Amino acid sequence: MCCAVPLEDVEIEVPVESLDVSGEPTRREYTAKVERMERLSESVIRLWLALPGGQRIDFAAGQYINIILDDGARRAFSFANAPHDNALIELHVRLIPGGRWTTHVFTAMQVGDEVRFEAPIGRFTLHAGARPILLIAGATGFAPIKSIVEDAFHRGVQRPLQLYWGVRDPRDLYLLELAERWQREHANFKVVPVLSEPDPALGWSGRTGLVHEAMLADHADLSGFEVYVCGSVQMVDSAVPAFLKQGLGADACFSDAFTPNAQ
Ligand SMILES: Cc1cc2nc3c(=O)[nH]c(=O)nc-3n(C[C@H](O)[C@H](O)[C@H](O)COP(=O)(O)OP(=O)(O)OC[C@H]3O[C@@H](n4cnc5c(N)ncnc54)[C@H](O)[C@@H]3O)c2cc1C
Repeated sequence: MCCAVPLEDVEIEVPVESLDVSGEPTRREYTAKVERMERLSESVIRLWLALPGGQRIDFAAGQYINIILDDGARRAFSFANAPHDNALIELHVRLIPGGRWTTHVFTAMQVGDEVRFEAPIGRFTLHAGARPILLIAGATGFAPIKSIVEDAFHRGVQRPLQLYWGVRDPRDLYLLELAERWQREHANFKVVPVLSEPDPALGWSGRTGLVHEAMLADHADLSGFEVYVCGSVQMVDSAVPAFLKQGLGADACFSDAFTPNAQ
Protein backbone atom coordinates (compact mmCIF):
# COMPACT_ATOMS: atom_id res chain seq x y z
CA MET A 1 0.00 0.00 0.00
CA CYS A 2 2.93 2.35 0.56
CA CYS A 3 4.13 1.97 -3.03
CA ALA A 4 1.22 0.81 -5.21
CA VAL A 5 -1.20 3.24 -6.83
CA PRO A 6 -4.78 1.98 -7.29
CA LEU A 7 -6.11 2.22 -10.85
CA GLU A 8 -9.75 2.02 -9.77
CA ASP A 9 -11.84 1.87 -6.57
CA VAL A 10 -10.53 -0.72 -4.16
CA GLU A 11 -11.87 -2.29 -0.99
CA ILE A 12 -9.21 -2.61 1.69
CA GLU A 13 -9.29 -4.93 4.68
CA VAL A 14 -6.90 -4.00 7.49
CA PRO A 15 -6.30 -6.53 10.29
CA VAL A 16 -6.82 -4.66 13.56
CA GLU A 17 -3.53 -5.92 15.05
CA SER A 18 -1.59 -4.30 12.21
CA LEU A 19 -2.85 -0.90 13.38
CA ASP A 20 -0.93 -1.27 16.62
CA VAL A 21 2.25 0.64 15.91
CA SER A 22 3.37 1.03 19.51
CA GLY A 23 7.05 0.26 19.95
CA GLU A 24 7.69 0.31 16.22
CA PRO A 25 10.83 2.20 15.16
CA THR A 26 9.81 5.49 13.54
CA ARG A 27 10.75 6.40 10.00
CA ARG A 28 13.40 9.15 9.72
CA GLU A 29 15.50 10.72 7.04
CA TYR A 30 19.25 9.99 6.92
CA THR A 31 22.27 10.83 4.78
CA ALA A 32 24.82 8.01 4.57
CA LYS A 33 28.09 7.54 2.70
CA VAL A 34 28.86 4.65 0.38
CA GLU A 35 31.40 2.67 2.38
CA ARG A 36 31.95 -0.27 0.01
CA MET A 37 30.69 -1.61 -3.32
CA GLU A 38 30.95 -5.20 -4.54
CA ARG A 39 29.89 -6.53 -7.94
CA LEU A 40 28.04 -9.76 -7.09
CA SER A 41 26.99 -10.61 -10.66
CA GLU A 42 26.51 -8.99 -14.04
CA SER A 43 23.32 -7.35 -12.79
CA VAL A 44 23.69 -7.10 -8.99
CA ILE A 45 25.85 -4.78 -6.90
CA ARG A 46 26.12 -5.07 -3.13
CA LEU A 47 26.31 -1.65 -1.49
CA TRP A 48 27.28 -0.90 2.08
CA LEU A 49 26.21 2.46 3.49
CA ALA A 50 27.67 4.05 6.63
CA LEU A 51 25.93 6.68 8.73
CA PRO A 52 27.93 9.56 10.22
CA GLY A 53 29.45 9.08 13.66
CA GLY A 54 28.82 5.34 13.68
CA GLN A 55 25.07 5.93 13.98
CA ARG A 56 22.90 2.78 13.63
CA ILE A 57 19.30 2.28 12.53
CA ASP A 58 16.90 0.23 14.60
CA PHE A 59 14.84 -1.83 12.13
CA ALA A 60 13.13 -5.21 11.81
CA ALA A 61 14.46 -7.89 9.47
CA GLY A 62 12.55 -7.69 6.18
CA GLN A 63 12.06 -3.90 6.21
CA TYR A 64 13.39 -1.53 3.57
CA ILE A 65 14.70 1.98 2.96
CA ASN A 66 13.49 4.58 0.47
CA ILE A 67 16.36 6.19 -1.43
CA ILE A 68 15.50 9.87 -2.04
CA LEU A 69 16.55 11.16 -5.47
CA ASP A 70 17.42 14.82 -6.20
CA ASP A 71 13.85 15.63 -7.26
CA GLY A 72 12.36 13.89 -4.22
CA ALA A 73 11.40 10.67 -6.06
CA ARG A 74 11.73 7.52 -3.93
CA ARG A 75 13.23 4.11 -4.73
CA ALA A 76 12.73 1.20 -2.31
CA PHE A 77 15.59 -1.16 -1.40
CA SER A 78 15.48 -3.81 1.32
CA PHE A 79 17.92 -4.09 4.20
CA ALA A 80 19.99 -7.19 3.40
CA ASN A 81 21.84 -7.14 6.73
CA ALA A 82 20.23 -8.39 9.93
CA PRO A 83 19.22 -5.85 12.61
CA HIS A 84 21.89 -7.06 15.07
CA ASP A 85 24.58 -6.52 12.42
CA ASN A 86 23.78 -2.87 11.72
CA ALA A 87 27.12 -1.06 11.81
CA LEU A 88 26.61 -0.70 8.04
CA ILE A 89 23.49 -0.94 5.84
CA GLU A 90 23.75 -3.63 3.16
CA LEU A 91 21.71 -3.38 -0.05
CA HIS A 92 21.53 -5.71 -3.07
CA VAL A 93 20.86 -3.51 -6.09
CA ARG A 94 19.69 -5.14 -9.33
CA LEU A 95 20.27 -3.12 -12.47
CA ILE A 96 17.01 -2.11 -14.15
CA PRO A 97 17.69 -1.25 -17.81
CA GLY A 98 16.84 2.46 -18.15
CA GLY A 99 16.27 2.73 -14.40
CA ARG A 100 17.31 6.11 -12.95
CA TRP A 101 18.88 5.15 -9.67
CA THR A 102 20.17 1.65 -10.43
CA THR A 103 21.89 2.91 -13.61
CA HIS A 104 23.55 5.59 -11.49
CA VAL A 105 24.76 2.90 -9.04
CA PHE A 106 26.22 0.80 -11.87
CA THR A 107 27.79 3.57 -13.92
CA ALA A 108 28.67 6.51 -11.70
CA MET A 109 28.48 5.76 -7.99
CA GLN A 110 31.75 5.73 -6.08
CA VAL A 111 32.85 4.95 -2.56
CA GLY A 112 32.41 8.12 -0.50
CA ASP A 113 29.28 9.32 -2.35
CA GLU A 114 26.35 10.51 -0.25
CA VAL A 115 23.00 8.69 -0.33
CA ARG A 116 19.88 10.26 1.16
CA PHE A 117 17.13 7.91 2.31
CA GLU A 118 14.30 7.40 4.77
CA ALA A 119 13.92 4.31 6.93
CA PRO A 120 12.83 1.95 8.31
CA ILE A 121 9.71 1.06 6.31
CA GLY A 122 7.57 -2.02 5.79
CA ARG A 123 5.84 -4.92 7.49
CA PHE A 124 7.41 -7.88 5.67
CA THR A 125 8.77 -9.35 8.90
CA LEU A 126 8.89 -12.79 10.48
CA HIS A 127 5.85 -13.52 12.62
CA ALA A 128 6.01 -15.35 15.92
CA GLY A 129 4.69 -18.90 15.82
CA ALA A 130 5.65 -22.54 15.60
CA ARG A 131 4.83 -23.47 12.01
CA PRO A 132 7.63 -24.47 9.62
CA ILE A 133 8.60 -21.60 7.33
CA LEU A 134 8.89 -21.58 3.55
CA LEU A 135 10.72 -18.60 2.03
CA ILE A 136 10.39 -17.85 -1.68
CA ALA A 137 12.78 -15.30 -3.19
CA GLY A 138 12.95 -14.07 -6.77
CA ALA A 139 16.31 -12.54 -7.80
CA THR A 140 17.17 -9.70 -5.34
CA GLY A 141 14.11 -10.74 -3.32
CA PHE A 142 16.94 -12.64 -1.61
CA ALA A 143 17.97 -9.37 0.14
CA PRO A 144 15.18 -9.14 2.77
CA ILE A 145 15.16 -12.93 3.06
CA LYS A 146 18.88 -12.83 3.95
CA SER A 147 18.09 -10.32 6.68
CA ILE A 148 15.20 -12.46 7.98
CA VAL A 149 17.24 -15.71 7.95
CA GLU A 150 20.33 -14.19 9.61
CA ASP A 151 18.08 -12.60 12.24
CA ALA A 152 16.33 -15.94 12.84
CA PHE A 153 19.70 -17.69 13.33
CA HIS A 154 20.82 -14.90 15.66
CA ARG A 155 17.65 -15.21 17.76
CA GLY A 156 17.96 -19.00 17.89
CA VAL A 157 14.71 -19.65 15.99
CA GLN A 158 14.45 -23.45 15.72
CA ARG A 159 11.54 -23.63 13.26
CA PRO A 160 12.40 -25.34 9.95
CA LEU A 161 13.34 -22.72 7.33
CA GLN A 162 13.33 -23.78 3.69
CA LEU A 163 14.37 -21.23 1.08
CA TYR A 164 13.46 -21.51 -2.61
CA TRP A 165 15.56 -19.00 -4.56
CA GLY A 166 14.52 -18.45 -8.16
CA VAL A 167 16.60 -16.73 -10.83
CA ARG A 168 17.03 -17.06 -14.60
CA ASP A 169 20.58 -18.30 -14.82
CA PRO A 170 23.06 -19.87 -12.33
CA ARG A 171 25.20 -16.69 -12.49
CA ASP A 172 22.26 -14.80 -10.93
CA LEU A 173 22.47 -16.89 -7.73
CA TYR A 174 24.78 -14.20 -6.49
CA LEU A 175 25.21 -15.41 -2.87
CA LEU A 176 24.43 -19.11 -3.22
CA GLU A 177 27.63 -20.03 -1.38
CA LEU A 178 26.37 -18.11 1.63
CA ALA A 179 23.00 -19.92 1.56
CA GLU A 180 24.82 -23.26 1.21
CA ARG A 181 26.96 -22.37 4.22
CA TRP A 182 23.79 -21.63 6.22
CA GLN A 183 22.58 -25.10 5.21
CA ARG A 184 25.80 -26.76 6.43
CA GLU A 185 25.83 -24.82 9.69
CA HIS A 186 22.12 -24.88 10.64
CA ALA A 187 20.24 -28.18 10.76
CA ASN A 188 16.88 -26.37 10.42
CA PHE A 189 17.81 -24.54 7.17
CA LYS A 190 17.65 -25.78 3.59
CA VAL A 191 18.13 -23.96 0.28
CA VAL A 192 16.67 -24.99 -3.10
CA PRO A 193 17.95 -22.93 -6.05
CA VAL A 194 15.60 -22.92 -9.04
CA LEU A 195 16.49 -21.66 -12.52
CA SER A 196 13.87 -20.49 -14.97
CA GLU A 197 16.09 -20.20 -18.07
CA PRO A 198 19.33 -22.18 -17.55
CA ASP A 199 21.83 -21.95 -20.37
CA PRO A 200 22.36 -25.62 -21.46
CA ALA A 201 26.06 -24.85 -21.97
CA LEU A 202 26.41 -24.30 -18.20
CA GLY A 203 25.28 -27.88 -17.43
CA TRP A 204 22.84 -27.07 -14.60
CA SER A 205 21.59 -30.28 -13.00
CA GLY A 206 19.39 -28.70 -10.29
CA ARG A 207 15.74 -27.64 -10.26
CA THR A 208 14.28 -25.71 -13.18
CA GLY A 209 11.05 -23.84 -13.87
CA LEU A 210 9.25 -21.14 -11.91
CA VAL A 211 10.35 -20.90 -8.30
CA HIS A 212 6.86 -20.94 -6.78
CA GLU A 213 5.94 -23.99 -8.86
CA ALA A 214 9.00 -25.84 -7.54
CA MET A 215 7.83 -25.14 -3.99
CA LEU A 216 4.26 -26.24 -4.84
CA ALA A 217 5.60 -29.48 -6.36
CA ASP A 218 7.43 -30.30 -3.09
CA HIS A 219 4.55 -29.45 -0.74
CA ALA A 220 1.21 -30.93 -1.76
CA ASP A 221 -0.51 -29.51 1.34
CA LEU A 222 0.59 -26.11 2.62
CA SER A 223 -1.92 -25.97 5.47
CA GLY A 224 0.66 -26.41 8.25
CA PHE A 225 3.17 -23.87 6.89
CA GLU A 226 3.93 -20.18 7.06
CA VAL A 227 5.10 -18.69 3.75
CA TYR A 228 7.11 -15.53 2.98
CA VAL A 229 7.34 -14.50 -0.69
CA CYS A 230 9.48 -11.67 -2.04
CA GLY A 231 10.36 -10.71 -5.60
CA SER A 232 8.85 -9.28 -8.76
CA VAL A 233 5.21 -8.26 -8.88
CA GLN A 234 4.55 -10.98 -11.48
CA MET A 235 6.09 -13.65 -9.25
CA VAL A 236 4.20 -12.58 -6.13
CA ASP A 237 0.94 -12.18 -8.06
CA SER A 238 1.09 -15.71 -9.46
CA ALA A 239 2.53 -17.34 -6.35
CA VAL A 240 0.17 -16.13 -3.62
CA PRO A 241 -3.16 -17.37 -5.15
CA ALA A 242 -1.51 -20.68 -6.06
CA PHE A 243 -0.27 -21.14 -2.47
CA LEU A 244 -3.71 -20.34 -1.03
CA LYS A 245 -5.27 -22.84 -3.45
CA GLN A 246 -2.88 -25.50 -2.19
CA GLY A 247 -4.05 -25.15 1.42
CA LEU A 248 -2.00 -22.23 2.78
CA GLY A 249 -3.95 -20.18 5.32
CA ALA A 250 -4.50 -16.54 4.33
CA ASP A 251 -3.15 -15.60 7.78
CA ALA A 252 0.06 -17.56 7.08
CA CYS A 253 1.03 -15.94 3.79
CA PHE A 254 3.23 -12.83 3.82
CA SER A 255 4.57 -11.13 0.72
CA ASP A 256 6.51 -8.12 -0.49
CA ALA A 257 6.34 -7.34 -4.19
CA PHE A 258 9.20 -5.33 -5.70
CA THR A 259 6.85 -2.77 -7.22
CA PRO A 260 8.70 -0.49 -9.65
CA ASN A 261 8.71 3.04 -8.17
CA ALA A 262 9.21 5.03 -11.37
CA GLN A 263 8.26 8.69 -10.88
C1 LIG B 1 9.46 -2.78 -0.77
C2 LIG B 1 10.41 -2.89 -1.94
C3 LIG B 1 11.69 -3.34 -1.73
C4 LIG B 1 12.59 -3.44 -2.80
N1 LIG B 1 13.83 -3.94 -2.57
C5 LIG B 1 14.69 -4.09 -3.61
C6 LIG B 1 15.99 -4.65 -3.38
O1 LIG B 1 16.38 -4.99 -2.26
N2 LIG B 1 16.79 -4.82 -4.46
C7 LIG B 1 16.39 -4.46 -5.73
O2 LIG B 1 17.19 -4.65 -6.67
N3 LIG B 1 15.17 -3.90 -5.96
C8 LIG B 1 14.33 -3.72 -4.94
N4 LIG B 1 13.08 -3.17 -5.16
C9 LIG B 1 12.73 -2.74 -6.52
C10 LIG B 1 13.27 -1.32 -6.81
O3 LIG B 1 12.73 -0.41 -5.88
C11 LIG B 1 12.84 -0.89 -8.23
O4 LIG B 1 13.34 -1.80 -9.16
C12 LIG B 1 13.26 0.55 -8.54
O5 LIG B 1 12.24 1.16 -9.29
C13 LIG B 1 14.54 0.67 -9.35
O6 LIG B 1 14.85 2.05 -9.46
P1 LIG B 1 15.41 2.73 -10.79
O7 LIG B 1 15.41 4.20 -10.50
O8 LIG B 1 16.68 2.12 -11.22
O9 LIG B 1 14.36 2.37 -11.90
P2 LIG B 1 13.02 3.25 -12.35
O10 LIG B 1 13.57 4.57 -12.86
O11 LIG B 1 12.18 3.29 -11.14
O12 LIG B 1 12.41 2.40 -13.46
C14 LIG B 1 12.73 2.46 -14.85
C15 LIG B 1 11.75 1.59 -15.63
O13 LIG B 1 11.89 0.22 -15.25
C16 LIG B 1 10.68 -0.30 -14.68
N5 LIG B 1 11.08 -1.05 -13.46
C17 LIG B 1 11.68 -0.55 -12.36
N6 LIG B 1 11.90 -1.51 -11.45
C18 LIG B 1 11.41 -2.64 -11.98
C19 LIG B 1 11.35 -3.97 -11.51
N7 LIG B 1 11.84 -4.32 -10.27
N8 LIG B 1 10.79 -4.90 -12.32
C20 LIG B 1 10.30 -4.56 -13.53
N9 LIG B 1 10.33 -3.30 -14.03
C21 LIG B 1 10.88 -2.36 -13.28
C22 LIG B 1 9.87 0.94 -14.31
O14 LIG B 1 8.48 0.69 -14.37
C23 LIG B 1 10.29 1.93 -15.35
O15 LIG B 1 9.57 1.77 -16.52
C24 LIG B 1 12.18 -3.05 -4.11
C25 LIG B 1 10.88 -2.55 -4.30
C26 LIG B 1 10.01 -2.48 -3.24
C27 LIG B 1 8.63 -1.94 -3.47
